[in-house]
Amino acid sequence: MGGTSICHQLTSGAYVSEDLFELSRQLLSGETSIGDHHPLRMGTQAAIQLVTESVIFVESFANAIATRTGAGLVLVDGGSPLHAQAIFGAVRSWTDERLDTAIYTHGHVDHIYAIRNFEAEGNGPARVVAHQAVPDRFKRYELTNGYNGVINQRQFQLGGPLFPAGYRYPDETYNDSLDVTVGGTEFSLHHDRGETDDGTWVWMPQAKILCTGDLFIWASPNCGNPQKAQRYCDEWAVALRKMAALGAEFLLPGHGLPIAGADVIRGVLEDTATYLESLFTQTIEMMNSGARLDEIIHTVQPAAEVSDRPWLQPVYDEPEFIVRNIWRLYGGWYDGNPANLKPAADRALATELATLAGGADKLSERALELSNVGEHRLASHLVEMASLAAPDVAEVRSARATVFAARGQTETSTMAKGVFAWAANESTDQPE
Ligand SMILES: [Zn+2]
Repeated sequence: MGGTSICHQLTSGAYVSEDLFELSRQLLSGETSIGDHHPLRMGTQAAIQLVTESVIFVESFANAIATRTGAGLVLVDGGSPLHAQAIFGAVRSWTDERLDTAIYTHGHVDHIYAIRNFEAEGNGPARVVAHQAVPDRFKRYELTNGYNGVINQRQFQLGGPLFPAGYRYPDETYNDSLDVTVGGTEFSLHHDRGETDDGTWVWMPQAKILCTGDLFIWASPNCGNPQKAQRYCDEWAVALRKMAALGAEFLLPGHGLPIAGADVIRGVLEDTATYLESLFTQTIEMMNSGARLDEIIHTVQPAAEVSDRPWLQPVYDEPEFIVRNIWRLYGGWYDGNPANLKPAADRALATELATLAGGADKLSERALELSNVGEHRLASHLVEMASLAAPDVAEVRSARATVFAARGQTETSTMAKGVFAWAANESTDQPE
């Protein structure tokens, strides 16, 4: 475990954190709960963990890694617009070395912004290196900026700000792999699809440091995200197996804490691969047998031998959503239920069922009963139908707010909590 003694040698100021390697050891062993250290918690601070004499891990909402090479700094990732200044300040509390090269592990907007803070120092532009699909992602974000603003507010329960723009495009892109050497320090870049189509993981062979990007985030992998673009479950598992074989002494993830120790690192990567492989294999087998999406979602579970691992809990994304993403990648959008091929409008079906039930209030009353006994899935259907059939009835609005607020409380993942809290707020706000 390399971190403990090194950490305390760093006395340059307020940015020095508690020993993150020790905290990570406690989380891995179950001495501390992941619920108390959510890997994607909000907050605008950044903290430093020294990894070696020349490498620091900067913990933030999304992490960054800085390496002093003697010929200029190399940065892996650069945080969101909200965290860029803190990341920049944290690095500058450690070294004055000018930024030479920045590597993006992918183009998500929580990973790319501190570069402009360094470039604003006036020491010339940095060289930004990324996978060749990153510029296409930025163009997609320019096209769908409004949509991404809405879904991010819903996912993170934010009042704002809207989705960021002003992307720092890479200067150099690559396809499969690329070796970058700065001042004698080697960075081996490898592309795999997983959370994104533009992923890069970085291997620093001299210090045996592995920067996984978001391929490891201390949670059930963000491989199902209901509101965002396609993820790649099977290729993600392949990437994890490749990384597990490297013999890394340090794992520096895109979110959450750094990990030290070759055996521990191999274990967490292999277990995460097993988790994804189990979801993938079950889903594909059921698709091949002709099962409907509905049956698959309610049958497939992550492998029992790894599902209780502290770093695989569904606190951000969920395995049920991963199953849907596998279906989306390998199947069509038709879910196998013929009523869904060319459905009636939601409101027409809801009105018909409300009439059959004896009124929308009957549906919302039953929804509240079901909610009270923990039948949140059924309760959600009934209250949503009541609301579609009678959107302006105060009792129905109130029931909808109650049912979705209660459901949000029982969910574990950021994504489900966000969607249900958003729904509850829609019915809490005054009608226009
Ligand atoms: Zn991220």
